Amino acid sequence: MEVMLTDNAIEILRARYLARDEAGKVVETPAQLFRRVARAVSMAEACDRPLWEERFFRLMEQGEFLPNSPTLMNAGLPEGQLSACFVLPVGDTMDAIFECLRHTALIHQSGGGTGFNFSSVRPRGDRTGSGPGTASGPLAFMQVFDEATRQVRQGGRRRGANMGILECTHPDVLAFVRSKEDPSQLQNFNLSVGVSDQFMKAVERGNPWALYNPRDGKQWGELPARELWGAIGQQAWKRGDPGLLFLDTINAGNTVPSLGRLQATNPCGELPLYPYESCNLGSVNLRGMVRKDLQGHPGVDWERLGATVRTGLRFLDNVISVNRFLLPQVREVTLANRKVGLGVMGWAELLIELGIPYASEQAVDLARNVMGFIRECSYEASEELARERGPFPNWPGSVFYPKRPLRNATCNSVAPTGSISVIAGTSYSIEPLYALAFKRVGILEGETQWETNQVAYRWLLERGLWTPDLEQHLRDNGGVSGYQGMATGVRELLATAHEIPWEYHLAHQQAFQEHTDNAVSKTVNLPRETPESMVSEVYWRAWELGLKGITVYRDGSREGQVLQHCSRS
Ligand code: ADP
Repeated sequence: MEVMLTDNAIEILRARYLARDEAGKVVETPAQLFRRVARAVSMAEACDRPLWEERFFRLMEQGEFLPNSPTLMNAGLPEGQLSACFVLPVGDTMDAIFECLRHTALIHQSGGGTGFNFSSVRPRGDRTGSGPGTASGPLAFMQVFDEATRQVRQGGRRRGANMGILECTHPDVLAFVRSKEDPSQLQNFNLSVGVSDQFMKAVERGNPWALYNPRDGKQWGELPARELWGAIGQQAWKRGDPGLLFLDTINAGNTVPSLGRLQATNPCGELPLYPYESCNLGSVNLRGMVRKDLQGHPGVDWERLGATVRTGLRFLDNVISVNRFLLPQVREVTLANRKVGLGVMGWAELLIELGIPYASEQAVDLARNVMGFIRECSYEASEELARERGPFPNWPGSVFYPKRPLRNATCNSVAPTGSISVIAGTSYSIEPLYALAFKRVGILEGETQWETNQVAYRWLLERGLWTPDLEQHLRDNGGVSGYQGMATGVRELLATAHEIPWEYHLAHQQAFQEHTDNAVSKTVNLPRETPESMVSEVYWRAWELGLKGITVYRDGSREGQVLQHCSRS
């Protein structure tokens, strides 16, 4: 059976995913890759293993569901490390910090990404065993982690990624906020300030804000809350970093609160995790979930979506069972909670197929319905697995006890799908289309060529709107706006990321978050001319809307991003 893949997909698979022999020669086809993964993941099945292998294969082969990159790369191979997301603890001793660095290198080598909360590290200039005023502070150690990340290539395939978190009460927080002012610094880190509701209220009231030394819990100093808030907005406007993590909101949604507070997330923010906890993700391709009714009107194919989610959730639970854990600590925490993160990709393309503009209430309502449905189907599948295989070991300490036995402490996350959406040939995650025409830089040969988004192209073609003149306009401008004679309805339907008002970026994030037990990774794309004050406003609104985190990217504010989001320029 031959798999239908786009040129982009074949290129990215060849460059990073297909298995190679010792000489580095590719030794499998895409179909063989999906077969290898399906077989490895089906090994967790006690009965009907070949049947499950076939179902898993079909999901991937038809581009309906894909697991995160390390599962595609490593399943069925000796490496066997299948998770994309880890959180590691950073202690306040040299031993602890460098042990963490060693663990980080191992995880990156296997294709995983790591998140850290550096707030336990004593501030720069604090005393150490070797004398007063000699402590390096968390930022110095982050640079060491950054350099290590740069040097460790993931089996030659991609570089690792990190999330660095510092809480708003840490004495070095201002320096942390400004640490990417020089764009050559910390390039392998996304940064987030961990903020509390108390901090947000201090900003609102214009109160002073106290900073504490984590070593002894004593106050170190203070600054006006608004000074810190202003610096966050300014830097995010300038460089796209830092984002915010709303730690109280995250903990209000913690499904296993008996284990203590959650303090960190993975690199892109979609998974709050405990120290040493890992998680594997998978995403359903919504673009394929369309069905025409008897009158020929397109709508969501709920039946197919439900079936895909159920099989996808089983797939992800199996991944935990067949996973090879690099560290005993990771094994212990991961097996006790069995968290998985099933999410979506292709949302923007589904909306176009249905004729619904992204920036509309109708789209936001549908987002809520789709994710609500996905969550319910995921929980039903997890409940069924609990009956068959037993609930996750920490279930008695979870919010589900005793009413709902589940196999997994969390079921859903919305990941960026930076690579797997390219393999599936659809749009990233829940993001609007970035451009309708874009230049693709070949991964292997470095050549460039023009590409048009296929869903938009077909939509225009079917309505007789596609012309060579329009094609040129799309290449020059990225989208249809400004093209003479284009109806308003078409402009709205095909609006690209910068044309979508930020309020709608947030509304989509909120709609998906409402039905996601982990978090939603989303970038609020802003046009270059956005004023600085607006970034603070976006961040403020994100907190008011109950989001778990927020990231913005103002056009042109950063050269090259942490994650190689495939090959688009
Ligand atoms: P993919 O499409 O490759 O499955 P995503 O873009 O959805 O990955 O990212 C999901 C998670 O995978 C991220 O939050 C991060 O934890 C991890 N990840 C992504 N890219 C990298 C990378 N280059 N190195 C390490 N981890 C990564």
